[in-house]
Amino acid sequence: MRVVLLGPPGSGKGTVAEKIKELYGLVHISTGDLFRNCIRQNTPIGQEAKVFIDRGDLVPDELTVRMLAERLDNDDCADGFLLDGFPRTLDQADALEALMNKSGFSLDVALNVSVPDRMIMERLSGRRVCPECGATYNIYSQPSLEPGICDVCQSELTQRPDDKDATIRHRLDTYAVRTAPLLDYYEQQGILRSIDNSGDLAATFAQLKEVLPQ
Ligand code: AMP
Repeated sequence: MRVVLLGPPGSGKGTVAEKIKELYGLVHISTGDLFRNCIRQNTPIGQEAKVFIDRGDLVPDELTVRMLAERLDNDDCADGFLLDGFPRTLDQADALEALMNKSGFSLDVALNVSVPDRMIMERLSGRRVCPECGATYNIYSQPSLEPGICDVCQSELTQRPDDKDATIRHRLDTYAVRTAPLLDYYEQQGILRSIDNSGDLAATFAQLKEVLPQ
């Protein structure tokens, strides 16, 4: 199965992705994570992308598509994948379609994860991450046992630079202008499915089973 996840920053795509991965055994590819790895390792892609990411802008399509195409070329994607955070522009969607056509495949589902706007700010501004092991927390809804300290590896938790309030607002505007048009794009292809991720996780996961093929 080949799935793309859509939804604004803070809609909980990461959590939904983890569940789909568990249910379907799909490889989970997050372009945000790929960029953050490149930044940690200080690669040329990381150096170029960091400026855009830190101010809440999208990384240019050419660089993003090049990085993703390389990742999709790996053998572990041959039987399917789950893309999280890609595509984010119509040009990226076209590029993905061209990549798929070249290998004789097509997307099965574009899954839109939606939550009311008011929940988004709380989710993003409360998010804390462990820079060492990648564990994610939320000071409001999912705090660590000891404030500011990772439960898993005891490292000091940090806030992503792009999770500061002004940057969050900019990311949401960018989503509305550049990414939301993808909903129509995939609707027209007949593969758009939507779930509401504002309730508890069990409710979200029940919807997943309804909208994804068995
Ligand atoms: P995320 O973890 O998905 O919120 O991504 C973090 C940041 O990485 C985004 O705010 C963008 O700056 C950048 N990014 C991730 N995926 C893409 C993409 N498909 N196109 C452009 N920029 C991206």
